[in-house]
Amino acid sequence: MKFAIVSKGDDHSNKIKATMKQYLVDFDLIYDKKEPELVISVGGDGTLLEAFHRYVHRLKETAFIGVHTGHLGFYADWIPKELEKLVIEIAKTPFQVVEYPLLEVIIRSHSGGEEDRFLALNETMIKTPEGSVVFDVQIRGEHFETFRGDGLCISTPSGSTAYNKALGGAILHPSLEAIQLTELASINNRVFRTIGSPLILPKHHTCLLKPMVDRSLFIAIDHFTNTYTNVKSIQCRVAKEKIRFARFRPFPFWNRVRDAFVAEGDAHLLDERSL
Ligand code: NAD
Repeated sequence: MKFAIVSKGDDHSNKIKATMKQYLVDFDLIYDKKEPELVISVGGDGTLLEAFHRYVHRLKETAFIGVHTGHLGFYADWIPKELEKLVIEIAKTPFQVVEYPLLEVIIRSHSGGEEDRFLALNETMIKTPEGSVVFDVQIRGEHFETFRGDGLCISTPSGSTAYNKALGGAILHPSLEAIQLTELASINNRVFRTIGSPLILPKHHTCLLKPMVDRSLFIAIDHFTNTYTNVKSIQCRVAKEKIRFARFRPFPFWNRVRDAFVAEGDAHLLDERSL
């Protein structure tokens, strides 16, 4: 099997990368940065996002796995202490694969020409450096609302625990093929009115955002941000592609949510009087 390792780049992650690489080569696996079947990210969630975007052109052939060298990650769940165990598991391939939905974002400009198409693992965030954005928000080709505010976030189920959560969005289990639209400080008064709640759209329900004022836009796809001018529309929907994670042990999503956001063993903090 061919594999590649993407490191966060700090000394600790680089050392783990070098050790893993050597172990796996000793097991007769082939290190191939160009066409890997397994990509191991060593670092944090940001490193796995980086690895995803590096190999986004070969999602059908490549599976991902994350080792974290900082605090527990959502995508990076193996710890350096488990390295040998993980290497043996990888060497014993074939492995199980779990697929998570992705978000497709298509940006079209008024000048026509080529459109930009992206896949996001976490989300797209749309803001402006010039005050507030004003969008005609369409769902399935019908006008839904006119949004005016700081911006909008459209996230995947696995990205729902990231930026989306900070914006008050719901946490979605990644077995649900859906995307979630959350607001950043919408203006609500007698002139402007938005739904105010996060919206969860199923597969095939496309959301189209049409800028109603000519402003430059900051459009972030996961951790990459670009500035766009002259934008005609931003189209978002569940992508037909999926990310594939290599699984060597159960990794329940709700356990990860609990461990990341709810203090472990918090029940002992409560005494009878506070119940
Ligand atoms: P980063 O890599 O330093 O990540 C920032 C934090 O977000 C880290 O603690 C990381 O573990 C966490 N994170 C990333 N993906 C996650 C996920 N799916 N579920 C739960 N936590 C997750 O920062 P970056 O490289 O600039 O951006 C990467 C991602 O970080 C973005 O896609 C965004 O979702 C997230 N982010 C969140 C906030 C926030 O919650 N206010 C702010 C900035 C960035």
